[in-house]
Amino acid sequence: MIRKMEPTLIVCGHGMVAQRFIEELVSKASTPYRNIIVFNGETSAAYNRIQLSALLSGDADEESLTLKPDAWFARHGIRVHHGEAIQAIAPDKHTVTTSTGRVYRYDALVIATGASPARLGILGEELNGVMNFRDLNDTRTLIELSQSRQRAVVVGGGFLGLEAAEGLKRRGMAVTVLHRSSHLLNRQLDPDSGKLLSDALTARGINVMTSTSPLQLLGRDTVRAIQLNDQTLICTDLVIIATGITPNRELAQNAGLACGRGIQVNAQLQTSAPDIFALGECCEFNDETFGLVEPGYQQAKILASVLAGPTEGAAYQPSVTATRLKISGIPVFSCGQQAPDEHTESLVWQDFATGSYSHLLVRDNHLVGAILVGNTSQGPWYQELIAGNANIDLFRAQLPFGKPFCKAAA
Ligand SMILES: Cc1cc2nc3c(=O)[nH]c(=O)nc-3n(C[C@H](O)[C@H](O)[C@H](O)COP(=O)(O)OP(=O)(O)OC[C@H]3O[C@@H](n4cnc5c(N)ncnc54)[C@H](O)[C@@H]3O)c2cc1C
Repeated sequence: MIRKMEPTLIVCGHGMVAQRFIEELVSKASTPYRNIIVFNGETSAAYNRIQLSALLSGDADEESLTLKPDAWFARHGIRVHHGEAIQAIAPDKHTVTTSTGRVYRYDALVIATGASPARLGILGEELNGVMNFRDLNDTRTLIELSQSRQRAVVVGGGFLGLEAAEGLKRRGMAVTVLHRSSHLLNRQLDPDSGKLLSDALTARGINVMTSTSPLQLLGRDTVRAIQLNDQTLICTDLVIIATGITPNRELAQNAGLACGRGIQVNAQLQTSAPDIFALGECCEFNDETFGLVEPGYQQAKILASVLAGPTEGAAYQPSVTATRLKISGIPVFSCGQQAPDEHTESLVWQDFATGSYSHLLVRDNHLVGAILVGNTSQGPWYQELIAGNANIDLFRAQLPFGKPFCKAAA
């Protein structure tokens, strides 16, 4: 008797989104893919990348980051090859070649290769002591270096840079943050709330410099100083580059798949090759790429439905996502439009005593943006109003004070 081979699903990358996708898929009552093989470019099993900030600051340990124990994969018959990256895809043969030279055949391939830190492209970037903050290995090295080095400069005042700064400060280093824009977190905050955050970080002992960028990094083997565009020199023992991310698309590009900034996918997360799918930070949908985990989780749910079949109705539609952060213990929330324009009105409320700030952007009696610093408890409700395009006319005057006041007024 000839035993029918089960269709093979290969997953390339084992980050947060790939893991969520696998969990969604195996939770389906019926899926044609019971033979799942995962290639993980990192040597550690999938972990909570977001918690690397807590690991760096000493608020979490490595064990707590693991997403699922080995037994979970064994129970679902999933084979994971840690430390074995996929190096090439042959879409015409339906095969992948891994870093060990092995060749595997797939019926469906899911690419979830994430993103890599953007480079500055300046002199000295290859020096010892110039680091990224992206994975477990980076974090382990940063923790180790913080024990022997005194000063750190973080290039980039976005959320990643600020979390690196906070972590290294908590490890006892003297930290300077350099930011190109005129205010911190300029993708999430307006200038006033950015200034509020900057003042709070300064009060905690972090040196913040805005409207500046590095010209070159100096040192013989190890970085010793950073030269700014106004020729200022800052002596340092460590530089962390946190100026954004670039989707990991080369593997797909070399296989001839359509790519823009990321790997282009349609609403079923399908690439230009019918049996190859992509999701998470490596993909591009409708000219948009992603830098937060939530859109990746939404894509994971859709792709699991698509692969479990039948596919009618399963279509990815980006929703209004919010950024929720805690920078140096200060909660920050941002959702929707964050810069006023000629069509918006601003409702701004600030409590200097508690350090709370809220900036709500309203267009035609609809909330279109919310920036909160300090007290962010009403953030999810504002997000609902933005996503639901709700008319706020009846409680507009109470809007900055939150849901209970608005409900009473409506
Ligand atoms: C320190 C830090 C803090 C963050 N904080 C937040 C936060 O507060 N909120 C938020 O929403 N997001 C946050 N993020 C971003 C969030 O972690 C990412 O959006 C999320 O991890 C993206 O998941 P992913 O699976 O697409 O990519 P990744 O998690 O990057 O996983 C991709 C994996 O694929 C592997 N890989 C790459 N190429 C290959 C290959 N050829 N073969 C095999 N494997 C390969 C990579 O090594 C990696 O392990 C943070 C990120 C960092 C670094």
